[in-house]
Amino acid sequence: MKGKSTKLKTILCLIQSLTLLLCSTATMAQTISLNKLTGQFDEKKDKDFITLDSTELPVNKKGMYLQKEAAEQLVKAFKDFKKEYPNIPFIVVSATRNYTYQSGIWQRKWDALSAKFNDPQKIAEEILKYSSMPGTSRHHWGTDVDITSVSSEYFRNDPKGIILYKWLQANLPKYGFCQAFNNGRSGGYQLEEWHWSYQPISSQYIAQYKAILERDPDAIMRILNFTGHDKIKLESLVKEYVLTVNADCY
Ligand SMILES: [Zn+2]
Repeated sequence: MKGKSTKLKTILCLIQSLTLLLCSTATMAQTISLNKLTGQFDEKKDKDFITLDSTELPVNKKGMYLQKEAAEQLVKAFKDFKKEYPNIPFIVVSATRNYTYQSGIWQRKWDALSAKFNDPQKIAEEILKYSSMPGTSRHHWGTDVDITSVSSEYFRNDPKGIILYKWLQANLPKYGFCQAFNNGRSGGYQLEEWHWSYQPISSQYIAQYKAILERDPDAIMRILNFTGHDKIKLESLVKEYVLTVNADCY
């Protein structure tokens, strides 16, 4: 009898754990909506987001937002950097960009490059060296920032840029940030010394984006209605540019 009841208990326990596991996986999968993943929301009205104007972070324009936790960690990093290097600029030059904002960037670049190239795929690949297709940018997530300059030249040749980049690489991971577009990836965007991502949250976004791309890519493709979307190898570009990031960011 005793043996039987122990067995029964074990089985019940197993069922319980399995249910818990299934439930928590399902909850996780539902945590981030497709709208949030693809930037179709207004960060100014989202309770998880905070304006950088209310923080100590220097910015190059007003009205930029980040998710609260990412902003708090970045403030800590900024303060520690300034203790060491009070005269070297540490400025947020881009933070959350929603789908509409990213569409503006994409359209401007598309129009300019259309004068130079005839092939839509070629135009897209040119833009994609440094800019994302609307709906695929990590800047949609409120976890990613560009710091001080968006020019590799600055980080490679300017003494202040060189010091800043060294510090970011050595220290930002301590605050939870990874360099999404680092050296040595097999595809995707060029090296971006300036682009840093708050991994504890962005890793959840990329995991879910990846899961949808594997399970039902059309759910995402249907949303992407930017100029040229129907004239390029959309799905393969989305997969390459969203997923080919620093392994530390997963
Ligand atoms: Zn960026």
